[in-house]
Amino acid sequence: MNSNNAPVFRVVDLKQYIYCPRLIYYYYCLPKIRPVTYKMEAGLEAQDDEESRAARRSLRTYGLKCGTIETNVYLESPSLGLRGIVDLVITTNETSDGQPEVIPVDYKLSNRQMGLHFKLQLLAYGLLLHEVRKLPVNRGFLYAIPRRKAGEVLFTPALRNKLAQALRQMQDIVSRENMPNPVKKRQKCEVCEFRRFCNDVI
Ligand code: SF4
Repeated sequence: MNSNNAPVFRVVDLKQYIYCPRLIYYYYCLPKIRPVTYKMEAGLEAQDDEESRAARRSLRTYGLKCGTIETNVYLESPSLGLRGIVDLVITTNETSDGQPEVIPVDYKLSNRQMGLHFKLQLLAYGLLLHEVRKLPVNRGFLYAIPRRKAGEVLFTPALRNKLAQALRQMQDIVSRENMPNPVKKRQKCEVCEFRRFCNDVI
């Protein structure tokens, strides 16, 4: 919680919110009933070998020639209501406008296309970096570990609006203890650990 008694969400909560907003209600308003951790895409971890780790820590992977790299950077902003550990932060040399650019990189074990939930998490790290470092943050990269490929994500006004809307709704759920409607795609409920608490989806 910050000084206004509003929750400071973990960046990974955005993934849960996109899956089903009700998960945020369970996690923050009824924390004692949380059964087990949220479904993880494990199993792919075996492919996370040394070669892959070296590739994703190379500036060339991101089309950059020079800059500095930091790994596992903890970021927190009570005013944004966010906290999290970003896998990689690249700070470029000064650009033509005289300022370096800061670029967050988030590693993903997913083999699938990078969906909105991943992009929102990446942007959240970007906003945190901008807040903490006071430097321009206009883009980031999602690195797919199984494919050893980095995809650029531009932090467009549309993506920023989506994140602002998601964070507003998450704050609203928690501050009003307002349980959201069940998710529309009911297939999601079949693999949800909270299913036995959602009597309206059985
Ligand atoms: S069971 Fe369905 S409605 Fe309930 S929290 Fe899980 S996904 Fe959401």
